[in-house]
Amino acid sequence: MSLPPLVEPAAELTVEEVRRYSRHLIIPDVGMDGQKRLKNAKVLCVGAGGLGSPALMYMAAAGVGTLGIVEFDTVDESNLQRQIIHGQSDIGRSKAESARDSVKEINPLVEVVLHEERLDNDNVMEIFSGYDLIVDGTDNFATRYLVNDAAVLLGKPYVWGSIYRFDGQASVFWAEHGPCYRCLYPEAPPPGMVPSCAEGGVLGVLCASIGSIQVNEAIKLLAGIGEPLVGRLMIYDALEMQYRSVKVRKDPNCAVCGENPTVTELIDYESFCGVVSEEASAAAVGSTITSKQLKEWIDNGEAIDIIDVREVNEYEIVSIPGARLIPKNEFLMGNALQDLPQDKRIVLHCKTGVRSAEVLAVLKSAGFADAVHLGGGVIGWVNQIEPEKPVY
Ligand SMILES: [Zn+2]
Repeated sequence: MSLPPLVEPAAELTVEEVRRYSRHLIIPDVGMDGQKRLKNAKVLCVGAGGLGSPALMYMAAAGVGTLGIVEFDTVDESNLQRQIIHGQSDIGRSKAESARDSVKEINPLVEVVLHEERLDNDNVMEIFSGYDLIVDGTDNFATRYLVNDAAVLLGKPYVWGSIYRFDGQASVFWAEHGPCYRCLYPEAPPPGMVPSCAEGGVLGVLCASIGSIQVNEAIKLLAGIGEPLVGRLMIYDALEMQYRSVKVRKDPNCAVCGENPTVTELIDYESFCGVVSEEASAAAVGSTITSKQLKEWIDNGEAIDIIDVREVNEYEIVSIPGARLIPKNEFLMGNALQDLPQDKRIVLHCKTGVRSAEVLAVLKSAGFADAVHLGGGVIGWVNQIEPEKPVY
């Protein structure tokens, strides 16, 4: 499947640009037309880290006219093993500024736009809407799903890559022409299941292998040449030195790009990916009960108030006997606290224990010292106590 160019060509190239890009211009598939399209292109790179480093440097060298950089972090010594856009003298500096300086050193003709903030639900749509294409160099699942959903909702293509130790993957997700990230990975892995590069390590040069595939695909999309990596997943094994590509089909049941999407606006990605905040993990220590424990308390008629902090549609699918529903937001807004009993122990639960841990932190700081939450949530309860009930 070949696709039309993503970007209209710029009116002309200057004499300086013709000199600089001569090795592109003499490739028939790129030529003046392709180079003019690159000049007119606006590409956003999410992250100036492992993947963002080679991606930004090669896109700058290639003559992509405008490069946006989303990055809020500062350069740390441990970044330099792979994040080659930064150097020794950049330690402690803003990564965005350091990356901009390197881009300008490679190619002063590139316009650089810095977004020195963490990508979130409040800024992603506005930032993305200013660009033709997004290159995703993020290293966590919450941001990946955020990037995917925003790109699908805005109808924008993006080039995705991921790296871990000696293994890399890359693809182009563009819901109008093929699958999205959720078609490939509908659910985030449970927290703690997939270690991050900070925990598990990454071979520095792997970033270049995958980052350069991302730039390769970005250039093809912008100029409308070749076979884009839409509907295919590239899998690279650096130890075996093997590249293989597997077909990825668009999932008609995909939550965001399928026929009846359930995700029609941005959602809570931290909670979707089971990211537990520091306050919530601290509150849960010593205050987490098992399904068996809860069953005993119910059977013994203990003075407890079981509160389900999920949403009403989830409560309707399956619930724990005797639990009443007060959605998490009611606690975060402070509305629910005054109605809580003082003479009963409060037992919170949600689907898997992430949201209930967050609410637990709110209750603890409001003085409900003996409140607890159910580890594993209603899913754990069904698995251990009421296996005949549905899970979702
Ligand atoms: Zn999809």
